[in-house]
Amino acid sequence: MPGLLSSMTAGRGVIFTLHHVVHPSGDAFQPNRLLEISPDFLRKAILRIRARGYDIVHLGEVAERLKDPKSGRFCVLTFDDGYRDNLEIAYPVLKELDCPFTVYVATSMPDGTAELWWRVLEIVVASRAHLELKLNGTPMGFPCETPDEKYKTYEAIYWWLRSQSQDDQRSFIRDLAMLHDIDMASMVRRMAMSWDEVSVLARDSLCTIGAHTVKHFALARIDADRARAEMLNSADILESYLPERPKHFAYPYGDPGSASQREFEIARECGFETAVTTRPGVLFTEHLDHMYALPRISLNGEFQAKRYLDGFLSGVPSLAFNKGRKLNIA
Ligand SMILES: [Zn+2]
Repeated sequence: MPGLLSSMTAGRGVIFTLHHVVHPSGDAFQPNRLLEISPDFLRKAILRIRARGYDIVHLGEVAERLKDPKSGRFCVLTFDDGYRDNLEIAYPVLKELDCPFTVYVATSMPDGTAELWWRVLEIVVASRAHLELKLNGTPMGFPCETPDEKYKTYEAIYWWLRSQSQDDQRSFIRDLAMLHDIDMASMVRRMAMSWDEVSVLARDSLCTIGAHTVKHFALARIDADRARAEMLNSADILESYLPERPKHFAYPYGDPGSASQREFEIARECGFETAVTTRPGVLFTEHLDHMYALPRISLNGEFQAKRYLDGFLSGVPSLAFNKGRKLNIA
């Protein structure tokens, strides 16, 4: 622990990961709650970060900050995927507080073709008292009457899906959606920003738009050519809709099983300036040699986020890295 303590306090900066900013709901079953914070929490977090003497800066300033030993400590706020609530709920707060931010857009989101499989699973488990599913060809029954049963069922199927090939995973979820009358296309149109909406953010100098692949696949689990195409195509598509080609990239999911040395190398070859993981950690000068594997700290889920933020800002971090992150989709 002393090592962690001294290294954390010696950090030069931190990149925070966020997803949704929404008004909290009182539902008992919210398996994706870890991906959400409220606008009130966002506002408080920004004010506390600044009150502690951190500058909130653009992602493009990270290298300069790390190169200059005299520059102050800094934070970067990043939002993954391209959710509409980023524009409708987070943006007014960010604008009012004059706070720079980055949105990593998976292009299938504004294209309306994204398969938000974790949300489909949530809706199905929420709406049923019992589920019969065939996993690995074996019919299985899952109780989902109480919130506790729903959480257990959700976790079991979620992790089974994460272990499948991603083509099988998506095909399973398409079948599940069809069986339960869930229209995935209208779900994406409701949850994701349109291209016009992404353009509103892109035109604001506070906002940096980064790439986040096309289909939101865990890149380490597909072959290299396909991983490269996912990265390059997403940059090409963003460039075709927006004023400039994205310089920054975020690996979907971002954990070591989803992005590793091969992907870091491909991101460099694709010409990005930075690429971020969800491996937890703060930034040191040494990260100038690892600009394609930058760590981030999750600000998802208010309970978890409070713990992170308090620890981080107190200078006596008690960050339980890797705990409570199981459902943390990036
Ligand atoms: Zn993501």
